[in-house]
This record gives sequence, structure tokens and C-alpha cells, in this order.
Amino acid sequence: MYTKALAALTLASARGASAFSPIVGRSAASVVRMPVTSSSHAQRSITSTALKASVAKLSEPAKDLLPDVDVFIFDCDGVIWRGDSVIEGIPETLDKLRAMGKKTFFVTNNSTKSRKGYKKKFDSLGLDVPAEEIFSSSFAAAAYFEQTKFKDTGKKVYVVGEIGIQEELDLVGVPHFGGPEDAGKQPDMGPGCAVSHDKDVGAVVVGFDRNINYYKIQYAQLCINENPGCQFIATNLDAVTHLTDAQEWAGNGSMVGAIKGCTGVEPTVVGKPGPLMIDYLCDKLSLDRNRICMVGDRLDTDILFGNDNGLKSLLVLSGVTTEEKLLSAENTITPDFYADSIVDFFMDEKVGAET
Ligand SMILES: [Mg+2]
Repeated sequence: MYTKALAALTLASARGASAFSPIVGRSAASVVRMPVTSSSHAQRSITSTALKASVAKLSEPAKDLLPDVDVFIFDCDGVIWRGDSVIEGIPETLDKLRAMGKKTFFVTNNSTKSRKGYKKKFDSLGLDVPAEEIFSSSFAAAAYFEQTKFKDTGKKVYVVGEIGIQEELDLVGVPHFGGPEDAGKQPDMGPGCAVSHDKDVGAVVVGFDRNINYYKIQYAQLCINENPGCQFIATNLDAVTHLTDAQEWAGNGSMVGAIKGCTGVEPTVVGKPGPLMIDYLCDKLSLDRNRICMVGDRLDTDILFGNDNGLKSLLVLSGVTTEEKLLSAENTITPDFYADSIVDFFMDEKVGAET
């Protein structure tokens, strides 16, 4: 069923050839490496802020939010679950939204799992979500290659990342290597030694990798610097991630930064806040951006993703962002609304029940 759903999606994307074009600033053979998201975001977020005078805490969702939204796009960690626990009240809230006829999608920057892997996680948490509603950055990387007809080049992909990227590349038939199989590899760095690399690598994909090592960095560096036209694709640029509840951990921004540091190349970013996933969804389902709301717990990925792509945006305080940080003078990224959790979408019902 999963494979069938993916095939339907990729077929739909193939029909809309323009869907992914905005994120690629150069052709595969171009020598000039154009920054796609990272450097332009700061500029765009300032523009977004200038247009948004204030941010309101959601108080009357039945009046201010729900009538104006047909589609909710939810980030997962910090919105639907925290680590391995579903946030209280979420299953009931999703049921109520669906009962109202709202469409729901789940978009995560975490590339360590494929959509199939995420489906298992949703199932294990008792959340009945179809695979076609789940969009991970591992899927986005595969969809990007599908859309740009990478397979036709006859080239391969070198993966710095985990199994999620490999599973998604398998589904679209893109040849790849690296990833978990290069965990623990150490290059011989004695006098005169060299790492030999495959001249047929046409793209390096970098996603979160708990087993990143110097061999992988060197291999990626050789492919990007020495193979003409080799693309550098990042699943996301998240600075930190939440492997455990105890502290913040270095995110994929650190892996991408390592490759950027030795190549001087800006990556093409396929995850949030890049536009690829929303372009894909809008193209596939003919959605009206004005009636989509992006809901997330991070300002620099989720809310920026919503604001930069013409969506409504709502920050929840159930994840990494505090109210203090949101309202601080230093913050330049403002959502349309904020709420403690998406459970508050139906706060009016609670008020009604209590009175
Ligand atoms: Mg999150």
C-alpha cells in the first residue's frame, strides 16, 4: 500500500514539472553554486517580520482560525509527540479536525526514517495516519531526484546520513551508496595515501548522521570538489535536535556545515524551510495556500517555512520554543498566532462545556 501511495505521488509530481524548480538555483553542470535557502532566509525573515505587526495568542479558534483553514500541516516532534510519547489530547484533536473535513499532513525535517519508518512510529503511538499524509525530509530528497530526473543521468548518489534516506532512494530507483555502510570507516592517512572516490557520483545528500566520520566527510568533499556538476543536497539545516529530553544535540546543520566548510558550496535544501515540500503538496492536491496553516514548535524552520511560502502560521509552545523567546525583542520571526498546544484549537468547546 505504501509503495502504491508513493507511486501515485511521484506520478503526480512528474506531471507538474515546475513543482520543484524554485529551489534549484543552478543547473547540474553549473560551476557557480547558488545559495538556495540559508543566506536568503535571514533577508526574507526580516521582510516577514516587517509585515507582521504583532503576534496574537489564539483565544477564539472557532472564530479566528478554523473557518479560514482547510489544510493543517503539522510538524511532528514538539507538536504531535515529544520523543516517544504522544502529547496529551492530540489523537482526539486530530479526530475532531478530520470530522470537520480538514485535511492534515505531517512534515518533519528528521531524515533518519523513511515515510514507512514514520508510519510505524505513528502506529506505535496509536495515531491512525495514512502514509501519504507523512512527508519527511528523506522523502523530500528522493522526490527532488525524481522530479529532476536524476536517474536519467546514469549517476549515483553518495549518502551522508541514515537508513531513511536510503529507503526512500530505493523506492524511486536512484542508485546510492555510503550511509550506514560507511560507519566506522577510517581512511589510511599514511605517507602517500589517498581515498579513491567514484567519479560517477552526481550528488551528495547530507542528512542527520549519528555515525558521521572523517572518511565520509573526505569522500563527500572529493565528490563535490572533483566530480564536475556534482550536486550538494541537504535534507535540512537544523542547528540542534532532540535526541533525548536531557539536552539539545548537534543537528544536521553541523553535518552540512562540515561539507560546506571543505567545499565552499552552499547546499540545495529540500526540507523546511525550503519550499520543496509545500510546492509538492500544492501541486499534487491543487491546494490554496491562503487556506493552509503551518503548525510547528520552531521559529527558524516551521514558522519561517509557513511565512516564506505564503501560508498561515501558528507556533505551539509544546516543543522547543518558549513564550519568552517568541515575544523577545531579539526574535525576528513571528507567526500569525501562537497557542500552548493544538489541543487549544477546540478550547471554545471546553469553555462551552464549563459554562
Ligand atoms: Mg518540531
